Amino acid sequence: MISIEEAITSIKNNSKPLLKTTTKLVERAGGYVLSQDVFSPINMPPFRQSAMDGYALRLHDKLTYNVVGEVKAGDPHQPHLKNGEAVRIFTGAAVPNTATAVVIQEKVTTTATKIITEGKPLPNQNIRPLGEQVKKGALALAKGTKITPAVAGYLLSLGITEVEVFKKPSIAIVSTGNELVEPGTLLTHGKIYESNSKMLLSVLYSLNFYEVSIHKIGDDYHKTVLVLKTLINTKDLVIITGGISVGDYDFVGKALNELEVKQLFYKVKQKPGKPMFYGKKEDTSIFALPGNPAAALSCFYVYVYIALQKMMDRKPIELPRIKAKSTSNFEKKRGRPQFLKAIYNKGKVEILEGQNSSMLQTFALSNALAFVPEAITNININDMVDVILLPVQYNTYELQH
Ligand code: AMP
Ligand code: MG
Repeated sequence: MISIEEAITSIKNNSKPLLKTTTKLVERAGGYVLSQDVFSPINMPPFRQSAMDGYALRLHDKLTYNVVGEVKAGDPHQPHLKNGEAVRIFTGAAVPNTATAVVIQEKVTTTATKIITEGKPLPNQNIRPLGEQVKKGALALAKGTKITPAVAGYLLSLGITEVEVFKKPSIAIVSTGNELVEPGTLLTHGKIYESNSKMLLSVLYSLNFYEVSIHKIGDDYHKTVLVLKTLINTKDLVIITGGISVGDYDFVGKALNELEVKQLFYKVKQKPGKPMFYGKKEDTSIFALPGNPAAALSCFYVYVYIALQKMMDRKPIELPRIKAKSTSNFEKKRGRPQFLKAIYNKGKVEILEGQNSSMLQTFALSNALAFVPEAITNININDMVDVILLPVQYNTYELQH
């Protein structure tokens, strides 16, 4: 049995960025990371652009200008201005090459054919220079940039519709157990609804991982070997739940051994989630999490999350940890450090009742895990406690990816 710190170090040391790349439509690339530098195919803006509604003029010594035409946004024509001439112009329109400034309409007095400016305009005022944001051929975005909505907008403004990005891992979730039945079907005596697979699918979706398959097997050694063999050969990450303890019908450990998965650790000194396995076969990472749902989810956040962040080359590698003042008393048994379902709010943390590893009800109310080290047996009100903040947002928009 190893410590939590040793387990985390092992995952960090044995996980590395996936170097496979893929092409994505810009609007489908949210959350991905650029695998190549992107150079601008155009000057942006592609022409001298008016920043305001007003008049483009060719400066001279006087304040009066003859208005000789108009350029609207999108107009392709370029009126030729002589000194002392102006054209009516609007935001986003191409400023004629011969114009040297734009004055805003609020700062001029108009007559039928002339304008008088309030003061002497400054050269180039209110004109966005050609290539002001980025020049044609210059670096627009560097490799490693995460695609956010702003990044997508910027790429599209340069006319770029597709980008090369690092692939996200292909992930398999495997649930094991004879007692499990599909939610939505009849529950007969002795059975429970299978919740782990889609709970883990939900957390993966919430972290923008969409290439996920689900597999369900009973407590059957040969079936376990068969299913895991294919998945380990084809996926980047395999997450198994249940069947990793020492019961007579726990076959996952034996199957992983048979498949020559290299064990990096088995059993972590912690509560919940002691019987947890992490291993690798070639480049595939394998986590076997305890079947108890609250333990499985805790272990996901504390351990599997790290492997995913490393695979995506994302930082920070771990979920944020802060200190918060406890609003509850909690008595813990000696022996193992404990992750406790908790509610964090404005510097305070409430440790909830019902910490049993089978209880998702408590987890459903939580937005954090309070961490209590091995040596501490009592948390009292106002004690400072370590808190891991959970990513609780749920991003349904990207489910179609
Ligand atoms: P195990 O780790 O297989 O011994 O399972 C521990 C506990 O978790 C048992 O009470 C199982 O019924 C329960 N369990 C295991 N897998 C699941 C699952 N996929 N969904 C819900 N509960 C599960
Ligand atoms: Mg089981």
